[in-house]
Amino acid sequence: MSPFSHTKTLFHLPRNVVYLDGNSLGPMPLAARQHVATMMRNEWGEQIIKGWNDAGWMSLSTQIGDRIAPLIGAEPGQVIMGDTLSIKVHQALAAALALNPGRKVILSDCGNFPSDLYIAQGLIKTLDREHTLKTVAPEDVSHYIDDQVAVLMLTEVDYRTGRKHDMKALTATAHAHGVITLWDLAHSVGALPVNLAGSNVDFAVGCTYKYLNGGPGAPAFIYVCPRYVNKIHPTLSGWLGHAAPFDFELDYRAARGIERLRVGTPPVIALKCLEPALDIWDLVTIEQVRKQSIALCELFIREVEARCPGLTLNSPRNAQERGSQVSFCFEEGYGVIQAMAERGVIGDFRAPDNMRFGFAPLYIDEHDVMTAATHLEEVISNRLWDQPKYKTRATVT
Ligand SMILES: *Cc1c(COP(=O)(O)O)cnc(C)c1O
Repeated sequence: MSPFSHTKTLFHLPRNVVYLDGNSLGPMPLAARQHVATMMRNEWGEQIIKGWNDAGWMSLSTQIGDRIAPLIGAEPGQVIMGDTLSIKVHQALAAALALNPGRKVILSDCGNFPSDLYIAQGLIKTLDREHTLKTVAPEDVSHYIDDQVAVLMLTEVDYRTGRKHDMKALTATAHAHGVITLWDLAHSVGALPVNLAGSNVDFAVGCTYKYLNGGPGAPAFIYVCPRYVNKIHPTLSGWLGHAAPFDFELDYRAARGIERLRVGTPPVIALKCLEPALDIWDLVTIEQVRKQSIALCELFIREVEARCPGLTLNSPRNAQERGSQVSFCFEEGYGVIQAMAERGVIGDFRAPDNMRFGFAPLYIDEHDVMTAATHLEEVISNRLWDQPKYKTRATVT
Protein backbone atom coordinates (compact mmCIF):
# COMPACT_ATOMS: atom_id res chain seq x y z
CA MET A 1 0.00 0.00 0.00
CA SER A 2 1.15 3.52 -0.69
CA PRO A 3 2.38 5.30 2.43
CA PHE A 4 0.51 8.44 1.42
CA SER A 5 -2.98 7.33 2.46
CA HIS A 6 -1.50 7.19 5.97
CA THR A 7 0.47 10.45 5.84
CA LYS A 8 -2.65 12.31 4.72
CA THR A 9 -4.37 11.40 8.01
CA LEU A 10 -1.53 13.07 9.94
CA PHE A 11 -2.49 16.59 8.80
CA HIS A 12 -5.28 18.88 9.82
CA LEU A 13 -6.95 19.72 6.51
CA PRO A 14 -10.03 21.95 6.68
CA ARG A 15 -13.23 20.15 5.69
CA ASN A 16 -14.09 20.26 1.99
CA VAL A 17 -10.84 21.90 1.06
CA VAL A 18 -8.35 20.75 -1.57
CA TYR A 19 -5.14 22.45 -0.57
CA LEU A 20 -2.81 23.10 -3.50
CA ASP A 21 -0.77 25.85 -1.87
CA GLY A 22 1.68 23.83 0.19
CA ASN A 23 4.43 25.37 -1.93
CA SER A 24 3.65 28.61 -0.10
CA LEU A 25 2.59 27.43 3.37
CA GLY A 26 2.21 23.75 4.25
CA PRO A 27 -0.81 22.64 6.35
CA MET A 28 -0.58 21.84 10.05
CA PRO A 29 0.56 18.39 11.17
CA LEU A 30 -2.00 17.24 13.77
CA ALA A 31 0.73 16.28 16.21
CA ALA A 32 2.14 19.82 16.19
CA ARG A 33 -0.68 21.16 18.36
CA GLN A 34 -0.10 18.65 21.14
CA HIS A 35 3.67 18.82 20.88
CA VAL A 36 3.79 22.59 21.21
CA ALA A 37 1.17 22.60 23.96
CA THR A 38 3.25 20.10 25.94
CA MET A 39 6.37 22.18 25.44
CA MET A 40 4.55 25.30 26.62
CA ARG A 41 3.26 23.59 29.74
CA ASN A 42 6.24 21.44 30.77
CA GLU A 43 9.19 23.37 29.44
CA TRP A 44 8.52 27.08 29.18
CA GLY A 45 5.78 26.88 31.84
CA GLU A 46 7.56 24.83 34.48
CA GLN A 47 11.24 25.25 33.74
CA ILE A 48 11.28 28.85 32.52
CA ILE A 49 14.98 29.83 32.17
CA LYS A 50 16.20 26.34 33.06
CA GLY A 51 14.68 25.12 29.79
CA TRP A 52 17.77 26.29 27.91
CA ASN A 53 19.79 23.54 29.58
CA ASP A 54 17.28 21.05 30.95
CA ALA A 55 15.01 20.89 27.90
CA GLY A 56 17.88 21.18 25.39
CA TRP A 57 16.56 24.32 23.72
CA MET A 58 20.02 25.53 22.73
CA SER A 59 20.84 22.42 20.71
CA LEU A 60 17.53 22.36 18.78
CA SER A 61 18.98 24.40 15.90
CA THR A 62 21.59 21.74 15.16
CA GLN A 63 19.37 18.75 16.02
CA ILE A 64 16.73 19.86 13.55
CA GLY A 65 19.37 20.78 10.99
CA ASP A 66 20.61 17.19 11.29
CA ARG A 67 17.11 15.92 10.47
CA ILE A 68 16.85 18.12 7.38
CA ALA A 69 20.34 17.10 6.18
CA PRO A 70 19.29 13.72 4.70
CA LEU A 71 16.53 15.40 2.68
CA ILE A 72 19.12 17.55 0.89
CA GLY A 73 22.11 15.23 0.59
CA ALA A 74 24.07 16.70 3.50
CA GLU A 75 25.69 15.11 6.56
CA PRO A 76 24.86 15.72 10.22
CA GLY A 77 26.66 18.82 11.47
CA GLN A 78 26.46 20.61 8.11
CA VAL A 79 23.05 22.27 8.42
CA ILE A 80 21.82 24.74 11.02
CA MET A 81 18.44 26.38 11.62
CA GLY A 82 17.59 29.96 12.41
CA ASP A 83 16.20 33.28 11.25
CA THR A 84 14.33 33.57 7.96
CA LEU A 85 15.40 32.55 4.50
CA SER A 86 16.14 36.13 3.46
CA ILE A 87 18.63 36.43 6.35
CA LYS A 88 20.23 33.13 5.41
CA VAL A 89 20.62 34.31 1.79
CA HIS A 90 22.39 37.41 3.13
CA GLN A 91 24.78 35.37 5.29
CA ALA A 92 25.58 32.87 2.55
CA LEU A 93 26.03 35.47 -0.17
CA ALA A 94 28.29 37.65 1.98
CA ALA A 95 30.45 34.64 2.87
CA ALA A 96 30.58 33.46 -0.73
CA LEU A 97 31.62 36.90 -2.05
CA ALA A 98 34.40 37.09 0.53
CA LEU A 99 35.78 33.78 -0.76
CA ASN A 100 36.17 35.30 -4.22
CA PRO A 101 37.49 38.78 -3.38
CA GLY A 102 38.93 39.62 -6.81
CA ARG A 103 35.61 39.22 -8.64
CA LYS A 104 32.65 41.58 -8.76
CA VAL A 105 29.70 39.85 -10.43
CA ILE A 106 26.83 38.04 -8.74
CA LEU A 107 25.03 36.01 -11.40
CA SER A 108 21.37 35.10 -10.95
CA ASP A 109 18.28 34.71 -13.11
CA CYS A 110 15.10 36.71 -13.55
CA GLY A 111 13.06 33.76 -12.28
CA ASN A 112 14.65 34.06 -8.85
CA PHE A 113 12.45 35.08 -5.96
CA PRO A 114 12.65 38.86 -5.50
CA SER A 115 13.77 38.68 -1.87
CA ASP A 116 16.98 36.90 -2.90
CA LEU A 117 17.65 39.62 -5.50
CA TYR A 118 16.78 42.42 -3.06
CA ILE A 119 19.15 40.95 -0.46
CA ALA A 120 21.91 40.88 -3.07
CA GLN A 121 21.19 44.52 -4.01
CA GLY A 122 21.28 45.59 -0.36
CA LEU A 123 24.48 43.70 0.32
CA ILE A 124 26.16 45.27 -2.72
CA LYS A 125 25.33 48.71 -1.30
CA THR A 126 26.58 47.81 2.15
CA LEU A 127 29.84 46.37 0.85
CA ASP A 128 30.34 49.37 -1.46
CA ARG A 129 33.00 47.51 -3.47
CA GLU A 130 31.55 47.83 -6.95
CA HIS A 131 29.85 44.48 -7.08
CA THR A 132 27.05 44.10 -9.62
CA LEU A 133 24.06 41.80 -9.79
CA LYS A 134 23.47 40.32 -13.22
CA THR A 135 20.08 38.66 -13.78
CA VAL A 136 19.73 36.72 -17.01
CA ALA A 137 16.99 34.50 -18.44
CA PRO A 138 16.89 31.14 -16.61
CA GLU A 139 17.68 29.14 -19.75
CA ASP A 140 20.72 31.31 -20.48
CA VAL A 141 22.46 31.05 -17.12
CA SER A 142 25.16 28.61 -18.25
CA HIS A 143 26.24 30.96 -21.09
CA TYR A 144 26.93 33.75 -18.62
CA ILE A 145 29.15 31.79 -16.25
CA ASP A 146 32.67 33.10 -16.84
CA ASP A 147 35.81 34.12 -15.00
CA GLN A 148 34.32 37.48 -13.97
CA VAL A 149 31.59 35.89 -11.87
CA ALA A 150 32.21 35.69 -8.13
CA VAL A 151 29.03 33.88 -7.09
CA LEU A 152 26.31 32.01 -8.95
CA MET A 153 23.16 32.52 -6.86
CA LEU A 154 20.17 30.53 -8.05
CA THR A 155 16.92 29.13 -6.76
CA GLU A 156 16.73 25.57 -8.03
CA VAL A 157 12.97 25.56 -8.66
CA ASP A 158 11.33 28.72 -10.02
CA TYR A 159 8.58 29.90 -7.67
CA ARG A 160 6.29 30.89 -10.55
CA THR A 161 6.77 28.27 -13.24
CA GLY A 162 8.21 25.33 -11.35
CA ARG A 163 11.10 25.20 -13.85
CA LYS A 164 14.00 23.29 -12.32
CA HIS A 165 17.65 24.09 -12.91
CA ASP A 166 20.23 21.32 -13.36
CA MET A 167 22.03 21.91 -10.07
CA LYS A 168 24.83 19.46 -10.68
CA ALA A 169 25.68 20.62 -14.20
CA LEU A 170 25.52 24.34 -13.39
CA THR A 171 27.62 23.86 -10.27
CA ALA A 172 30.23 21.97 -12.29
CA THR A 173 30.33 24.72 -14.93
CA ALA A 174 30.61 27.34 -12.19
CA HIS A 175 33.49 25.51 -10.52
CA ALA A 176 35.31 25.14 -13.84
CA HIS A 177 35.36 28.96 -13.93
CA GLY A 178 36.29 29.45 -10.28
CA VAL A 179 32.76 30.56 -9.34
CA ILE A 180 31.27 29.88 -5.88
CA THR A 181 27.71 28.53 -5.89
CA LEU A 182 24.77 29.43 -3.67
CA TRP A 183 21.57 27.43 -4.16
CA ASP A 184 18.21 28.37 -2.69
CA LEU A 185 16.17 25.25 -1.98
CA ALA A 186 12.90 26.98 -0.98
CA HIS A 187 10.86 25.03 -3.55
CA SER A 188 13.08 21.94 -3.57
CA VAL A 189 13.36 20.68 -0.01
CA GLY A 190 10.55 18.20 0.58
CA ALA A 191 9.53 18.43 -3.07
CA LEU A 192 12.26 16.45 -4.80
CA PRO A 193 15.57 14.74 -4.03
CA VAL A 194 18.44 17.18 -3.57
CA ASN A 195 22.04 16.01 -3.40
CA LEU A 196 24.22 18.86 -2.19
CA ALA A 197 27.29 16.70 -1.63
CA GLY A 198 26.84 14.82 -4.91
CA SER A 199 26.43 18.11 -6.77
CA ASN A 200 29.44 19.61 -4.97
CA VAL A 201 27.43 22.69 -3.94
CA ASP A 202 29.24 25.34 -1.86
CA PHE A 203 26.36 27.06 -0.04
CA ALA A 204 22.67 26.25 0.21
CA VAL A 205 19.74 27.80 2.05
CA GLY A 206 16.05 27.01 2.33
CA CYS A 207 12.87 27.51 4.29
CA THR A 208 10.74 25.04 6.22
CA TYR A 209 7.22 26.46 6.04
CA LYS A 210 6.63 25.35 2.43
CA TYR A 211 6.94 21.62 1.64
CA LEU A 212 8.27 20.75 5.11
CA ASN A 213 5.10 22.01 6.85
CA GLY A 214 6.87 23.73 9.75
CA GLY A 215 4.24 26.48 10.14
CA PRO A 216 4.02 30.18 9.29
CA GLY A 217 7.37 31.86 9.85
CA ALA A 218 9.14 28.55 10.56
CA PRO A 219 12.93 29.03 10.75
CA ALA A 220 15.16 28.71 7.70
CA PHE A 221 18.28 26.56 7.29
CA ILE A 222 21.75 27.07 5.90
CA TYR A 223 24.35 24.59 4.62
CA VAL A 224 28.03 25.27 3.99
CA CYS A 225 30.25 22.65 2.37
CA PRO A 226 33.03 21.28 4.61
CA ARG A 227 35.85 22.81 2.55
CA TYR A 228 34.63 26.33 3.31
CA VAL A 229 32.79 26.22 6.60
CA ASN A 230 35.79 27.00 8.80
CA LYS A 231 37.12 29.61 6.39
CA ILE A 232 34.16 31.95 6.36
CA HIS A 233 33.85 35.08 8.47
CA PRO A 234 30.17 35.49 9.31
CA THR A 235 28.85 38.89 8.35
CA LEU A 236 26.09 38.69 10.95
CA SER A 237 28.48 37.91 13.77
CA GLY A 238 26.00 37.55 16.60
CA TRP A 239 26.83 36.23 20.03
CA LEU A 240 25.47 32.72 19.45
CA GLY A 241 27.84 32.21 16.52
CA HIS A 242 30.73 33.00 18.85
CA ALA A 243 33.11 30.21 19.90
CA ALA A 244 32.20 30.77 23.56
CA PRO A 245 28.99 32.82 23.86
CA PHE A 246 28.82 32.56 27.62
CA ASP A 247 32.35 33.84 28.14
CA PHE A 248 30.97 37.23 27.06
CA GLU A 249 34.27 38.29 25.49
CA LEU A 250 34.38 41.73 23.93
CA ASP A 251 35.69 40.51 20.59
CA TYR A 252 34.06 38.11 18.19
CA ARG A 253 35.65 34.72 17.55
CA ALA A 254 33.75 32.44 15.20
CA ALA A 255 32.53 29.08 16.49
CA ARG A 256 33.74 25.92 14.74
CA GLY A 257 31.81 24.60 11.80
CA ILE A 258 28.21 25.41 10.95
CA GLU A 259 27.59 26.81 14.46
CA ARG A 260 29.16 30.06 13.30
CA LEU A 261 26.12 30.68 11.11
CA ARG A 262 23.95 31.11 14.19
CA VAL A 263 23.11 34.73 14.86
CA GLY A 264 21.00 35.26 17.99
CA THR A 265 18.58 33.42 20.28
CA PRO A 266 16.91 30.50 18.48
CA PRO A 267 13.12 30.56 17.90
CA VAL A 268 12.44 27.65 20.27
CA ILE A 269 8.67 27.39 19.89
CA ALA A 270 8.93 27.47 16.11
CA LEU A 271 11.67 24.84 16.19
CA LYS A 272 9.48 22.64 18.37
CA CYS A 273 6.71 22.97 15.80
CA LEU A 274 9.06 21.50 13.19
CA GLU A 275 9.67 18.29 15.11
CA PRO A 276 6.28 16.63 14.45
CA ALA A 277 6.43 17.93 10.87
CA LEU A 278 9.75 16.13 10.36
CA ASP A 279 8.43 12.98 12.07
CA ILE A 280 6.14 12.57 9.04
CA TRP A 281 9.16 12.68 6.74
CA ASP A 282 10.56 9.66 8.60
CA LEU A 283 7.67 7.60 7.17
CA VAL A 284 8.47 8.12 3.50
CA THR A 285 11.48 8.48 1.27
CA ILE A 286 11.98 11.59 -0.83
CA GLU A 287 12.17 9.30 -3.89
CA GLN A 288 8.66 8.00 -3.15
CA VAL A 289 7.45 11.58 -2.76
CA ARG A 290 9.03 12.62 -6.05
CA LYS A 291 7.50 9.73 -7.97
CA GLN A 292 4.03 10.47 -6.64
CA SER A 293 4.43 14.22 -7.14
CA ILE A 294 5.23 13.64 -10.82
CA ALA A 295 2.19 11.39 -11.17
CA LEU A 296 -0.11 14.01 -9.58
CA CYS A 297 1.30 16.88 -11.65
CA GLU A 298 0.96 14.89 -14.88
CA LEU A 299 -2.62 13.96 -14.06
CA PHE A 300 -3.46 17.62 -13.39
CA ILE A 301 -1.83 18.83 -16.62
CA ARG A 302 -3.62 16.16 -18.65
CA GLU A 303 -7.03 16.89 -17.13
CA VAL A 304 -6.75 20.68 -17.32
CA GLU A 305 -5.53 20.69 -20.92
CA ALA A 306 -8.40 18.41 -21.92
CA ARG A 307 -11.02 20.47 -20.08
CA CYS A 308 -9.74 24.06 -20.43
CA PRO A 309 -8.19 24.59 -23.88
CA GLY A 310 -7.96 28.38 -23.25
CA LEU A 311 -5.26 27.96 -20.58
CA THR A 312 -1.56 27.83 -21.39
CA LEU A 313 0.78 25.59 -19.44
CA ASN A 314 3.50 27.78 -17.98
CA SER A 315 5.57 24.96 -16.49
CA PRO A 316 7.98 22.62 -18.26
CA ARG A 317 6.10 19.71 -19.81
CA ASN A 318 8.97 17.34 -19.04
CA ALA A 319 8.61 16.24 -15.41
CA GLN A 320 12.39 15.99 -14.99
CA GLU A 321 12.63 19.73 -15.59
CA ARG A 322 9.88 20.65 -13.15
CA GLY A 323 9.48 20.89 -9.38
CA SER A 324 6.31 19.88 -7.55
CA GLN A 325 4.03 22.62 -8.85
CA VAL A 326 2.19 23.39 -12.05
CA SER A 327 1.36 26.84 -13.39
CA PHE A 328 -1.11 27.88 -16.03
CA CYS A 329 -1.27 31.36 -17.57
CA PHE A 330 -4.57 33.13 -17.84
CA GLU A 331 -5.08 36.85 -17.99
CA GLU A 332 -7.91 36.77 -15.47
CA GLY A 333 -6.02 34.30 -13.29
CA TYR A 334 -6.46 36.32 -10.11
CA GLY A 335 -10.25 36.10 -10.35
CA VAL A 336 -10.07 32.41 -11.24
CA ILE A 337 -8.01 31.66 -8.12
CA GLN A 338 -10.51 33.61 -5.97
CA ALA A 339 -13.49 31.82 -7.49
CA MET A 340 -11.81 28.44 -6.96
CA ALA A 341 -10.95 29.31 -3.35
CA GLU A 342 -14.63 30.02 -2.70
CA ARG A 343 -15.31 26.50 -3.95
CA GLY A 344 -12.70 25.05 -1.61
CA VAL A 345 -9.79 24.60 -4.00
CA ILE A 346 -6.84 26.65 -2.80
CA GLY A 347 -4.13 27.58 -5.28
CA ASP A 348 -2.50 30.96 -5.61
CA PHE A 349 -1.76 33.69 -8.07
CA ARG A 350 1.61 35.15 -8.98
CA ALA A 351 1.65 38.32 -11.09
CA PRO A 352 1.28 38.98 -13.93
CA ASP A 353 -0.92 36.06 -14.99
CA ASN A 354 0.24 32.88 -13.26
CA MET A 355 -2.17 30.48 -11.56
CA ARG A 356 -0.03 28.25 -9.41
CA PHE A 357 -0.95 24.84 -8.01
CA GLY A 358 1.35 22.88 -5.71
CA PHE A 359 1.08 19.09 -5.37
CA ALA A 360 2.38 17.70 -2.10
CA PRO A 361 1.85 13.92 -2.01
CA LEU A 362 1.95 13.81 1.81
CA TYR A 363 -1.63 15.12 1.84
CA ILE A 364 -2.82 15.45 -1.80
CA ASP A 365 -4.11 12.44 -3.74
CA GLU A 366 -5.53 11.69 -7.20
CA HIS A 367 -9.06 12.37 -6.04
CA ASP A 368 -8.03 15.89 -4.96
CA VAL A 369 -6.45 16.47 -8.36
CA MET A 370 -9.67 15.48 -10.12
CA THR A 371 -11.73 17.74 -7.82
CA ALA A 372 -9.41 20.65 -8.57
CA ALA A 373 -9.58 20.05 -12.34
CA THR A 374 -13.39 19.86 -12.22
CA HIS A 375 -13.71 23.17 -10.37
CA LEU A 376 -11.20 24.85 -12.64
CA GLU A 377 -13.18 23.72 -15.66
CA GLU A 378 -16.44 25.04 -14.18
CA VAL A 379 -14.93 28.40 -13.25
CA ILE A 380 -13.42 28.87 -16.72
CA SER A 381 -16.22 27.59 -18.90
CA ASN A 382 -18.93 29.49 -16.97
CA ARG A 383 -16.77 32.64 -16.61
CA LEU A 384 -17.32 32.53 -12.85
CA TRP A 385 -14.19 34.64 -12.38
CA ASP A 386 -15.96 37.59 -14.05
CA GLN A 387 -17.47 39.13 -10.91
CA PRO A 388 -16.53 42.40 -9.18
CA LYS A 389 -15.88 40.67 -5.84
CA TYR A 390 -13.03 38.66 -7.36
CA LYS A 391 -11.21 41.67 -8.74
CA THR A 392 -9.96 43.42 -5.59
CA ARG A 393 -6.53 42.14 -4.64
CA ALA A 394 -5.80 41.23 -1.05
CA THR A 395 -2.44 42.07 0.60
CA VAL A 396 -1.22 38.48 0.33
CA THR A 397 -2.02 36.91 -3.04
C1 LIG B 1 9.65 31.62 -0.13
C2 LIG B 1 10.94 32.18 -0.57
C3 LIG B 1 11.61 33.18 0.16
C4 LIG B 1 10.99 33.79 1.39
O1 LIG B 1 11.96 34.27 2.28
P1 LIG B 1 11.56 34.57 3.79
O2 LIG B 1 12.72 35.28 4.35
O3 LIG B 1 11.29 33.25 4.45
O4 LIG B 1 10.32 35.40 3.79
C5 LIG B 1 12.87 33.57 -0.26
N1 LIG B 1 13.43 33.05 -1.38
C6 LIG B 1 12.80 32.12 -2.12
C7 LIG B 1 13.47 31.55 -3.33
C8 LIG B 1 11.53 31.67 -1.75
O5 LIG B 1 10.89 30.77 -2.51
